[in-house]
Amino acid sequence: MTHPVHAAVDPSNPAAEAARPITALVIHGGAGTIGRAQLTAEKEASIRAGLNRALDAGHAVLHAGGSAREAVVAAVAVLEDDPHFNAGHGAVFSHDGVNELDASIMDGHTLEAGAVAGVHRVKHPIELARAVMERSSHVMLIGDGAEAFARTVPGIAFVDPGYFFTDDRWQQLQDAKREEAAGAAKAPSAHFGTVGAVALDARGHLAAATSTGGMTNKRWGRVGDSPIIGAGTYATADCAVSGTGWGEFFIRLNVAADICARVSYRGDDLQAAADAVVMQRLGSLTLNGEHGDGGVIAIDARGQIAMPFNTEGMYRGWIRLDGTRGTAIFADDARR
Ligand code: ASP
Repeated sequence: MTHPVHAAVDPSNPAAEAARPITALVIHGGAGTIGRAQLTAEKEASIRAGLNRALDAGHAVLHAGGSAREAVVAAVAVLEDDPHFNAGHGAVFSHDGVNELDASIMDGHTLEAGAVAGVHRVKHPIELARAVMERSSHVMLIGDGAEAFARTVPGIAFVDPGYFFTDDRWQQLQDAKREEAAGAAKAPSAHFGTVGAVALDARGHLAAATSTGGMTNKRWGRVGDSPIIGAGTYATADCAVSGTGWGEFFIRLNVAADICARVSYRGDDLQAAADAVVMQRLGSLTLNGEHGDGGVIAIDARGQIAMPFNTEGMYRGWIRLDGTRGTAIFADDARR
């Protein structure tokens, strides 16, 4: 694919504004746990404010000429701090009543990637995923080993596991256990969330990042798609994708990598590629009477963006190449 010309950034240049870097950013705050009926105006306003804070953080990096990989980490770290989203503070609880956090990042320019799964004490799992990418010779570290590695990395903040607790998520776990005991478990879409970001920087490079608490009531060390490179996160020179949804289906379909492969190898338009995988493949894969659900955010090297989902809503926000920005939740909000 051909990249557009990307202006160099020189802050000392009085024409800097004219040479504003050509960048774009898309974020998501998950495709689950949203019901129009439960969403009060107040809650909606704080969710949109949280999305806007994350957009600001990522955009500030890009606007200053920073890299896509730095921008996606900055945006995701803000969402990890926000209790409305299922990542970091506000993550869902496992069956055993603990928070087990997963995150991953991929740089499309270098194809470097890093991921962590099942960490309990790292405040920003996305920063640890980045450290795995940049400071280890591995791609994925899990559990205690990941935290032992984290202790060797300057700047990784540790917290008491109680930091991740929120009343709402605790209540969700109690509800899920009650429903399970009554044999009336809700569809898994009631139990997921996840946050993510994809970005195009001024050099024309792409990156993707994803962070999650996984699915409520998960057990036995279950790990979903979010920390799996190719499934929940993928980036190349042509395309970057972060997903949210029922992770087992995303893993089986290798969702993020499939979208990028369609763009790179077949020259598919980004929207068509993302729609084919999310709206057709994911929704039509049926196992044990359930079908795959969720959504993705995707960006290509020309700065085109796509945000398809087959759930009732997906918290999302974007800043396009031309600087226009927005946030949306439901399917009938502006989608493109
Ligand atoms: N995909 C995540 C998982 O399966 C959940 C989510 O998107 O909220 O762990």
